[in-house]
Amino acid sequence: MTDTNSAGDGRYPAGAPASEALFDRARAIVPGGVNSPVRAFRAVGGTPRFMTRGAGPWLFDADDRRYVDLVCSWGPLILGHAHPAVVDAVRTAAGLGTSFGAPTPGEVELAAEIVGRTPVEQVRLVNSGTEATMSAIRLARGYTGRSKVIKFAGCYHGHVDALLAAAGSGVATLGLPDSPGVTGAAASETIVLPYNDVAAVEAAFAAEGQHIAAVITEAAVGNMGVVAPRDGFNQALARIAHAHGALLILDEVMTGFRVSRSGWTGLDPVDADLYTYGKVMGGGLPAAAFGGRTEIMSRLAPAGPVYQAGTLSGNPLACAAGLATLRLADEAVYHRLDELAAVVGKQATDALAAAGVPHRLSYAGNMFSIFFTDADVADYDSARTQHVPAFKAFFHSMLADGVYLPPSAFESWFVSTALDDDALEQYARALPAAAAAAGEALG
Ligand SMILES: *Cc1c(COP(=O)(O)O)cnc(C)c1O
Repeated sequence: MTDTNSAGDGRYPAGAPASEALFDRARAIVPGGVNSPVRAFRAVGGTPRFMTRGAGPWLFDADDRRYVDLVCSWGPLILGHAHPAVVDAVRTAAGLGTSFGAPTPGEVELAAEIVGRTPVEQVRLVNSGTEATMSAIRLARGYTGRSKVIKFAGCYHGHVDALLAAAGSGVATLGLPDSPGVTGAAASETIVLPYNDVAAVEAAFAAEGQHIAAVITEAAVGNMGVVAPRDGFNQALARIAHAHGALLILDEVMTGFRVSRSGWTGLDPVDADLYTYGKVMGGGLPAAAFGGRTEIMSRLAPAGPVYQAGTLSGNPLACAAGLATLRLADEAVYHRLDELAAVVGKQATDALAAAGVPHRLSYAGNMFSIFFTDADVADYDSARTQHVPAFKAFFHSMLADGVYLPPSAFESWFVSTALDDDALEQYARALPAAAAAAGEALG
């Protein structure tokens, strides 16, 4: 292990030869060289680091450099990398066979764990968050017999056609496709409204309430950077939707089992109709879910007519990893995640303040991000007032000093309980230079 940085004896040298070679090979045979766009570092520039292993709070890249990981696979790894209990559970499950195409005991256990922690009465397991939201929307449409869906600008719900309408663009009242390949017909069923704006939701329902099947919202937003709902916002969504016979779908794919034992609903209860989960519930393997009241969920095949299926759904390895993670995720774990998020956020904000860099530190439970702006951030328009070059400079300085932050100014940072004194020290040592670099980028 090279590990130049952990001794505090200097930054990693410029360039990352092994990652550069892998990226060259990958770009020839994989579009953009990656299997999910944000991994490509387009938002920050430079070569993405190809990771070869993880251990506790650390990630190791192909050049054998060690990074404090504040991405945690975009949220799932609340216990850090390769937690022994999770690895053991996966190893045991793999020894018994990797997939059966038939029901298994682990699915019942994982479903019971989810039902025990959340407001849902029944749950269906799927393979990704995208599948969960796509299926929840189909079910909401099947249940209500209506077609339209309200989503909020800046909220991401996976790459579902109907939900990609204006998923990353500005405020619009009529859905326009965000991506070639999403048809105008799919986008026209989507009404995109500004986040945290109850009056806009009331107006949309007043105009076409009888056609609206559901409102979908991130329980607290992590996908435009972290933006918490204003007090009472989620509750207002439930009230307005229900008054018009529509459903509220609370997307807890990111927040679920991360910000509390259940998710954002554990901190800010709301009477939603359908809930979606992913990320943490798979313990780092592909597993996701959607659930709700039995009365609604029983419309799903084979109990009801709304079709939904999956060859690998409820996969035994994924269920084993998810169960091992959730069984360890008790109140003490959430308390520790909250403490760590407070420390990591505070140190960053102190360093930026000392360097005179305007910013906003924004929390939703133990998820947080830093907006390089002096405007208050409550929605996508205000999130986009930030100075992206300042973030890029901050990011690359942290990376050179052995800290792996999300490679975009519009993503949440994630902590794990594996962060120890060694990792926290490496992080703290990296901050002053990064804050200074952000200040220089501001000019
Ligand atoms: C990550 C995410 C999704 C999509 O999940 P995938 O597993 O990437 O398909 C959906 N909704 C939210 C809120 C997310 O953060």
